[in-house]
Formats: sequence, structure tokens, C-alpha cells
Amino acid sequence: MPAQDIVDLRSDTLTVPDAGMRAAMAHAEVGDDVWGEDPTVRRLEDEMARLLGKQAAVFVPSGTMGNLACVAAQTRPGDEVIADAQAHVVVYEVGGAAIVAGVQLRVLEMENGIPDAGAIAAAVREPDVHQPVTTLLCIENTHNRRGGAAIDAAQVHEAAHAAHARGLRVHCDGARLFNAAVALGVAPADLVTQCDTVTVCISKGLGAPVGSVVAGDPETIVSVRRWRKRLGGGMRQAGVIAAAGLYGLEHNFDRLADDHANAKVIADAIAGCPGATLRRPAVATNIVMFDTEASAAELAAGMREHDVLVSAMGPRTLRCVTHLGVDAAGVSRAAAVIARVLSD
Ligand SMILES: *Cc1c(COP(=O)(O)O)cnc(C)c1O
Repeated sequence: MPAQDIVDLRSDTLTVPDAGMRAAMAHAEVGDDVWGEDPTVRRLEDEMARLLGKQAAVFVPSGTMGNLACVAAQTRPGDEVIADAQAHVVVYEVGGAAIVAGVQLRVLEMENGIPDAGAIAAAVREPDVHQPVTTLLCIENTHNRRGGAAIDAAQVHEAAHAAHARGLRVHCDGARLFNAAVALGVAPADLVTQCDTVTVCISKGLGAPVGSVVAGDPETIVSVRRWRKRLGGGMRQAGVIAAAGLYGLEHNFDRLADDHANAKVIADAIAGCPGATLRRPAVATNIVMFDTEASAAELAAGMREHDVLVSAMGPRTLRCVTHLGVDAAGVSRAAAVIARVLSD
């Protein structure tokens, strides 16, 4: 079975750099970034800060490290951090916030992925000698495990306002913030004006092989930079990979809309299937999540037999993610295979 016939919808992290991106990497001007001397890294940081409406930014090896450094930079050990129960920082970061930052995560079950003002008011601890001090709200946009939901600016503003009113800082895990911006038809900066820090991945929809960028105010970014070094994330001639991010911003940003259109083709095919219930966020992006009556692992294995790869996100939950490695023809073939296996 030739590799090019496989339609891989397991994740948008599976994208590989194309010839143009590899050429940009090969020709990148570099220096020692820990010394602040890599011009390409600095260009990526400046460009991302501009796009996100922030004054400063720092390139980090992964979104996980970016989130952890932001939590650590904005809390003290023993503090409490509020996050949705399905947030990446809660589910997929190996307890880093607890081990490294020494904070306690207080999780809220928010169907739409973001707490409203009332939920935040109820979750912030009283100034009581028995209780931890609540100092940070983490939101996620788009929200991966809430079906790739794009959270609109009004919802972000409500949550951030409620948090700030109680003295909390606000961090946005915007691994896929650009997907949210494209789906909502707004500038990325509009979704984080009220957020103190934001992490954005270049290694997903933009197609770069490695890396994320954290943006925020200069003072906080100095602290995040120090945490990056402490965590072992100080990189030397990192311009080679930052160049891929710059290339991705230039060539792969606008086409995120294609990924959303492709995801809709898959969602529409699943919507008509018995035995599957589609999770429908108010604003969908490049992620399609659905609950199944049969075992997710068995269904995924059945799809794999037809060269369509999807990921099991739970015993009865499957996820498909569209990205630049999957074209419209691949998507329609995948949609047909998924519908056939679900209807068997
Ligand atoms: C991918 C992702 C991250 C970061 O992942 P890394 O693999 O560490 O770069 C963070 N948050 C969300 C929601 C993600 O999907």
C-alpha cells in the first residue's frame, strides 16, 4: 500500500515541512539564541508579538513548555489555577504545573470550553487562612477536547474581566489560536487582548516541524524566558526552526480556512451515521470529534484497513483533524470510509 494513499487525520502535528519550508530553513540566518543573537528567532518573535497585539514574545520548543513557563511565571508554589477539566494543561501536560510550578489545578466542567463570569466568581477562593490563593485562569482557544471549539472574543473578554476583577492573571493556551481567528473572521490579537500571556504553536496548522511562541508584556516575557532556560528549553542556532514558522505564517495561515472546510465535509458525513454522535461546537474549526456506540479503538482499526487514520480520544470517542497534508480528494475519500465503517 503506497504511503501517499494514506489519509492521516490523527493530528495536525503530523504535517511535514514541504520543499519551500525546507529551503527557508536551509537558508536561515542564525546565531546563538540563548545569547539573544539569532536574527531569525528574533524576527519570528517580533512577528508573533505583532500578530498577537503584545509587546514581547519568546520562542519555545513546545506548547507544553510554553504553557508551563507561563504558569510558573505567573504563580507561586501553593497557588491555585483555574482551568477547564478538558484543558490540555490538565489532561496532556503530565502534571508539569503541579511538579514544576507547584500549583494546584482547580478544574471546572465547561461544556463550551470556557467559564463564564459566574463560574469564575464561584471558583476563586476566599481570602481564608485555610484556602489556597487563586492567581491564574487558563483558557484554551481553540479548545481541542471540546471538539475544536473556537471561543469568540466576547466569551474571552467576559472570563478575563471576571478573573482580572479578582486579581487573577489570564493565560490563553492558543496552540490553535490562528484556527480560531480564521474561523471567527477576526484578527488573532482580538482574541487575546484581555489575556496576559498566550502560547501559539507553529508546529500544527502552520506546518512547521517544531516550536511554539509565547507572547505577553515585556516583564512577564523576561520571566518566561528565564523559565524556558531553567526548563532546558534554551536553544542555540534555533533560527533553523524559527524560519519554518516564518514560512508557515506567510504561506499557510490563510489556508487554515481550507482545513475548516475539509473538517466540515467529514463532520457532515458523520452527522448522518447511526451509532455516532457528533460533538458540535458553536464555531467549528479543523477538529471533528464524535462519540460512538462501538469501541473507538475497533472503529479506528476498521478505518485503518481502508488507509484512513483517526485517533481514539477515549473508549468511545474518535477525533479527526484536518491539516495541510490532507487535500480535498483525500478528505472526501476519508469521509466515505468513516461513514461506511460507522454504518457497518
Ligand atoms: C498541541 C497542543 C499544545 C502543545 O503541544 P506540544 O506538542 O507540547 O507543542 C498545547 N495545547 C493544546 C490545546 C494543544 O493542542
